[in-house]
Amino acid sequence: MKNIKDYTLEELKEQLKEIGEKPFRAEQIFHWLYIEKVKNFQDMTNLSLSLRGKLIENYTICNFNILKKQESSDGTIKYLFDVLDGNAIETVLMQYHHGKTICVSSQIGCKMGCKFCASTGIPFIRNLTSGEIVEQLLAVEQDIGDRISNIVFMGIGEPLDNYDNVIKAIRIINHPNGINIGARHISVSTSGLVPKIYDLAKENIPCTLSISLHATNNEKRSNMMPVNNVYKIEELIKACKDYIAATNRRISFEYALAKDSNDNLEDAKELIKLLRGMNAHVNLIPINKIENGEYTKSTNDNIIKFRDYLNEHGIVATIRRELGSDIDAACGQLRRKNLGGKK
Ligand code: SAH
Repeated sequence: MKNIKDYTLEELKEQLKEIGEKPFRAEQIFHWLYIEKVKNFQDMTNLSLSLRGKLIENYTICNFNILKKQESSDGTIKYLFDVLDGNAIETVLMQYHHGKTICVSSQIGCKMGCKFCASTGIPFIRNLTSGEIVEQLLAVEQDIGDRISNIVFMGIGEPLDNYDNVIKAIRIINHPNGINIGARHISVSTSGLVPKIYDLAKENIPCTLSISLHATNNEKRSNMMPVNNVYKIEELIKACKDYIAATNRRISFEYALAKDSNDNLEDAKELIKLLRGMNAHVNLIPINKIENGEYTKSTNDNIIKFRDYLNEHGIVATIRRELGSDIDAACGQLRRKNLGGKK
């Protein structure tokens, strides 16, 4: 059956027309789903019994169950949600001074194969639907009894490889009649699917685009990230420049520092050359070593030196605070989990 949370408000209006109802009912349903957060159609009490009946007949409301919840000493919470088809996904809640941020998954598994990431090496299963992306946020809000102010697409999966559903999820989350999180509080992170960056530039959604760069030349980047064999750094940087020109938005470049691989001053110099003149920000992430992974974390000393060197040369760079590493919830530590012990 169709999950009612899979529809944007405009699509929901079309759905209602199809079942012979007035489109404005869609706004009422949106209100019940995303403001009142009801879990079944019976509770939508300003809808006629006959409409509630039609909804029950034609749609489900997807409500995730929490399979597991782990809390870090720094307040980060990692959730394992049952996505109701025998699979499970991870979602992370981070608490910052400026509010609560949720890191959502966009796919069950990932096809990108980045060597340093724990989501790699487990087969890709499927895309998440837009409703399943939205539900991660609703389920966490319900669990903590508080509102979430920021959402980052940095969990499992490559969001731009599930483009349509991710865009729809953003439109649902962003809609003023619903959850109403401003686009500027939404970040989409990509390993660099160049054609989709051009598509995103045309969507007119002023969200933040983050690019997982991690290396400054093709040899190193292709070693770390197979996607670089398809879209080379030059193409990626050109797409980023075109994105900035089209949207007037700043791009955030993620750079995970790995000891003796991409963390010396030569790398910093190449990075400066690459990004010079761009409206960009560099987010330095101390790489998290994964099981059997070849990349290990840079020393704190090197990370600070790297940051300072960039800053001294006109590139704005900050070091991302590591949250949740004691519960395997930090960057790159999430992996797809099956139910019932099936691998
Ligand atoms: N597929 C998307 C989003 C998911 S990964 C992307 O590639 O951007 C979210 C961020 O965590 C990316 O910047 C990714 O490169 C980074 N990351 C993955 N594994 C990591 C690790 N082991 N240590 C630090 N950062 C990691």
